[in-house]
Amino acid sequence: MQKILVSACLLGNKVRYNGADLFFESPILKTWIDQGRVVSFCPEVSAGLPVPRSAAEICGGNGGLVLSGKAKVIEKNGTDVSKEFINGAQLALKVCKQQNITVAILAESSPSCGSNTIYNGKFSNIKIAGSGVTSSLLKRHGIKVYSQYEICKAAESLK
Ligand code: SF4
Repeated sequence: MQKILVSACLLGNKVRYNGADLFFESPILKTWIDQGRVVSFCPEVSAGLPVPRSAAEICGGNGGLVLSGKAKVIEKNGTDVSKEFINGAQLALKVCKQQNITVAILAESSPSCGSNTIYNGKFSNIKIAGSGVTSSLLKRHGIKVYSQYEICKAAESLK
């Protein structure tokens, strides 16, 4: 059965910047877990960033522009973590390729995992349309990326 990449925080792992999870209750997700199809992954922790860590946002664009060096991921304390975010995205892609994964459910609005929205880079709690760094790289490689709110669409696409 086809496996699905899922943001680790959505599965209850406390890997978010603030040490919390983003547990998402879903019968569809539970079925996939029971079937052994879910591959849990956190790009930021996989790239070596600690928990907790400073909040980060994409400044000057979106995940695609970070990948091409035209925008940056900056922590609230001013540290440029673009390299780590790109590394995390590449590691996510590697896992997808190794396990023939073509569908991912990633946490909406994260600078790594957001697939429809991200924050505007000003730490003002305002969202804009756009994808995070990992979502952008996966999409570029033909992987269908859905947020947790689109899990029914994801299930449809696996049929
Ligand atoms: S990088 Fe993705 S998986 Fe990791 S905590 Fe952020 S949203 Fe969750």
